[in-house]
Parts: sequence; structure tokens; C-alpha cells
Amino acid sequence: MFENLSERLGGVFDRLTKQGALSEDDVKTALREVRVALLEADVSLPVARDFIKAVQDKATGQSVTKSVTPGQQVVKIVHDELQHILTGDEDPGALKIDNPPAPILMVGLQGSGKTTTTAKLAKRLKEKEGKRVLMASLDVNRPAAMEQLAILGVQIGVDTLPIVKGEDPVAIAKRAKTQASLGGYDVYMLDTAGRLHIDQELIAQAAAVRDVANPRETLLVVDGLTGQDAVNVAQEFDDKIGVSGVVLTRMDGDGRGGAALSMRAITGKPIRFVGLGEKMDAIEVFEPSRIAGRILG
Ligand code: GDP
Repeated sequence: MFENLSERLGGVFDRLTKQGALSEDDVKTALREVRVALLEADVSLPVARDFIKAVQDKATGQSVTKSVTPGQQVVKIVHDELQHILTGDEDPGALKIDNPPAPILMVGLQGSGKTTTTAKLAKRLKEKEGKRVLMASLDVNRPAAMEQLAILGVQIGVDTLPIVKGEDPVAIAKRAKTQASLGGYDVYMLDTAGRLHIDQELIAQAAAVRDVANPRETLLVVDGLTGQDAVNVAQEFDDKIGVSGVVLTRMDGDGRGGAALSMRAITGKPIRFVGLGEKMDAIEVFEPSRIAGRILG
């Protein structure tokens, strides 16, 4: 996902480190190239601008040009700054699931990978934390989506709430809560309906479910391939529903990766997990150092 950015930065850094002595103009030119590379990767303009300014300030403060290995110093500052803007929560993978049964609300647009991510996280909670998880689909307009969750449940050995025709999402959420309490589940996950665009009905429905479920975590699933759009979607969902974190899917694809770099700075919300494929194990905790490493090669 970061191949192009990585290649571009690699080129800039190669030139910097080979050059030996560096003037301030050399550093400025290099940072201009870094800025262009970030923008081409679909990093939002204010984030790219702040990033370059922070690097510039540090490079000046540390008198990089007077050091013995100026190029390497600049590379290190860029690396640190990259890690800095990626850093969110202390432990993005730790879901708040004390006081069982803990509700987790999953929201996002249709096709973002919400149902897949719900099942991936359920599997993870079961296998890594030994939790008993119940999943429920609230997508009453798309019976196929409800069945998809049930099929994934069987595949990963996680229970799903039986489907009752004609029930509305709030009623399903209440039934999930009851079932989770009575059944001794640690966590219940509510996979809300998605739509192609954020509209009033989508928001109203998600808000109504949120109000009855009182979720411990509200995770927004967004398609990482959509770049700045992913960040805009996250901002809007957060404004209207309030989210506790973001899961960026399709990070295995050949998108430009800008969403990952802009998300925190623009929305204030941490990326908690990244989806890396269609398989049920293809999910990772969002680790800034690993992502920075991927970008810087
Ligand atoms: P929903 O409409 O948001 O519930 O989306 P789905 O969970 O049904 O996912 C839509 C499609 O995206 C499915 O074919 C998934 O297998 C696929 N998908 C989900 N997450 C990822 C991911 O991280 N990487 C890739 N390559 N595909 C994904």
C-alpha cells in the first residue's frame, strides 16, 4: 500500500545520504520533494504541511547541516516525525471489554468491509483473549448481509444471534444484549447497516442503536483505498455518532496510503486496526513503528 511513497522517499533519502555535506538549501529542496511525495500519496494538505514544518524546525534546531552525517540525520528526523503523526492510543489493539457483556458497535458505509471486520475481530477476541463473543447483524434491509455474518460465524466458531424476520435494528440490539447476558458472553458485537453514502437514515439508525446499546467501543470501518475520502467519512461519522476508533481495511491493496497518515491528525481518532485481506486472520493492530518501517523501507 505504501510502495509508491516508499519508493519516492527512498529516492530522496538516497540522494541526501550520498551527498556528504548539506547546505540548508539542500535540506529545503529535499523536504519539498518529501512534501510532494506525501501529497501524491493522498496525505491531506494541512497534514503534509505541518509534517514538513515539524521536520524543518527539528533539522534547524539540531543544526543538521553542521553534523558529520547530515543526510542520515534528516532521514532520522523524518522517521521520528512519521512515527509521531501515526501514534494514537498507547495500545490501539486493547478493546474496552471489561464488565461483561460488553457491547461493541460496528459502523461504516456499505462495502467498507464492516461485516468481514466484525468477524475478524470476534475471532481475534476469541483466540487471543479467550473471550466468548456473540455477533448480531442489524442490517435488516439486506438479508444477504445478515446471512453473511451467520456464515462467517460458523466458519470461525463464533455464535451469531438467530435472525428473526421483521425485527427492527433497535429490537435486535436489545435481544442481543439479553442473549449476551443470559448466555454468559463476554462481548456482543453489533454489525449495523451500511449504505453507499452517509444519509440521515443511516445516522439515525446507528444513533438509535448506540443509545440502547451504550457501546463500550464504537468502531468505524473505512476503506483505506479511498484515501482522503476515508478521512472525510470518519470525520462525519465521528461528528454525528461519535466513534472510539477506526479500522482501515484493504491496506493490502495498492492504494496510496494517505488515509493512514492523515486520519489521526484530521479527525483526532486513532486507527486501531488495519485489514490486510479477505481471510479471517487478515487483521493487525495498527502499529505506528511497523507502518513507519513499511513506508521508509
Ligand atoms: P460491508 O458491506 O461493509 O459489510 O463489507 P463486507 O465485509 O461484506 O466486505 C466487502 C468485501 O470486501 C468482501 O469481499 C470482503 O472480503 C472484502 N474485504 C473486507 N476487508 C478487506 C481487506 O482488509 N482487504 C481486502 N483485500 N478485502 C477486504
